Amino acid sequence: MAGTPKKVLVVEDNANNLLLTKDILRHHGYEVIVACNGHEAIRLARERNPDLILMDIQMAVMDGMTAGRILKGDPATRDIKVIAVTSFAMKGDRERILEAGFDDYIAKPLNTRELPLIVKKHLVEASDPERETA
Ligand code: MN
Repeated sequence: MAGTPKKVLVVEDNANNLLLTKDILRHHGYEVIVACNGHEAIRLARERNPDLILMDIQMAVMDGMTAGRILKGDPATRDIKVIAVTSFAMKGDRERILEAGFDDYIAKPLNTRELPLIVKKHLVEASDPERETA
């Protein structure tokens, strides 16, 4: 990856999942910052302006669905790609997640090969249109 590494905020309340996700992303050259609930995620998104957020859905303090809605409703953070990471497998969950404004959805357990491909896909989409004029 040339130039400044892309910054990914990983929001996850399970230590094992957090470690796995961090390892995968760092291995692929991303800068990783972490939060363990939705409240912290919103604060870090505003302070650090990540390129992409991987958001666990089931978390204490503030769940990922609520945090995603807040981030996507705020002009300061709405352009950050947010991907839900969830073990939900019920009918309608995908629809609920996309309705909340998430850009995509990844199911748990994490597929270590699929994860970096999805992250990369959204980062390319995000930087393509304007060749990063800012
Ligand atoms: Mn969780």
